[in-house]
Amino acid sequence: MGFRLANVEGRAVLVEGGDFFDLEATSEGFFRPDPMEAYRRWAELSALAPGLTSGTPTGALADVELGPPVPRPQKCFAVGLNYQSHADEAGLDVPAVPLVFTKFPSCLVGPTADVELRSDGCDYEGELVVVIGTGGKDIAKADAWSHVAGLTIGQDISDRPAQFAASPPHFDLAKSFDTFGPMGPFVVSVDQFDNPDDLRIVVDVNNETRQNDSTARMIFDVPTLISYLSRITTLLPGDVIFTGTPDGIGLAQGKLLADGDVITTKIEGIGSMTNRCVRVSDYVEAAN
Ligand code: ZN
Repeated sequence: MGFRLANVEGRAVLVEGGDFFDLEATSEGFFRPDPMEAYRRWAELSALAPGLTSGTPTGALADVELGPPVPRPQKCFAVGLNYQSHADEAGLDVPAVPLVFTKFPSCLVGPTADVELRSDGCDYEGELVVVIGTGGKDIAKADAWSHVAGLTIGQDISDRPAQFAASPPHFDLAKSFDTFGPMGPFVVSVDQFDNPDDLRIVVDVNNETRQNDSTARMIFDVPTLISYLSRITTLLPGDVIFTGTPDGIGLAQGKLLADGDVITTKIEGIGSMTNRCVRVSDYVEAAN
């Protein structure tokens, strides 16, 4: 049981060790190539995956560049201030209900993609990302995990000047610049985790550890987020939730991202992803 699903050139692949298996080919057409289709059929996939990765692999991961494992979610939610330590460093009160905003799906990129900085005020936020498998409305907390296809690693990159240019801040725009949603390397099915509610999350920038916490310390845990969101909007297969970041962000430490910085984001049971920052043109004309 269980799968690790990745995206190679827009096609769903199953990952086993350092190898990958094209899902459509290894299933002889039973599954279509679109990764989004795989999330709709996640339970079938989880049952069949071991048998689909026993033959000759399509290729080696080392030879390909992975895309975002969820390339086109209909909805991409993100949660602010979901760890006490992060609320404390931001000097903000913990919200009474989840503080939810949107990252536009167009910002999602793969686990080795460059992050394009368009100001000198950009920041990292390592986050656990939940991928919905079975959609639904009014999902009970007790049932929530059964709606999840899998988990992956995300970076909720933020342009702080853009975020605080408006009051109240506009989270959505400032966190949706192109390339501001690296994710991957794989979506790992929930059945692969001993305890999906307690996963170590670590972010290093240039090999210096900046964030190090456990997802068990979320204020609103994964079932609560799913239940809350589903009482407002119907969740669909492939929808994703960036679940918030622990303390240690650049803004709080005076260590915002610069050209050439390398962000490594690790989550227990999933793996790691590494993204390099590239300073490109400013998004606003310099004032004169
Ligand atoms: Zn965030």
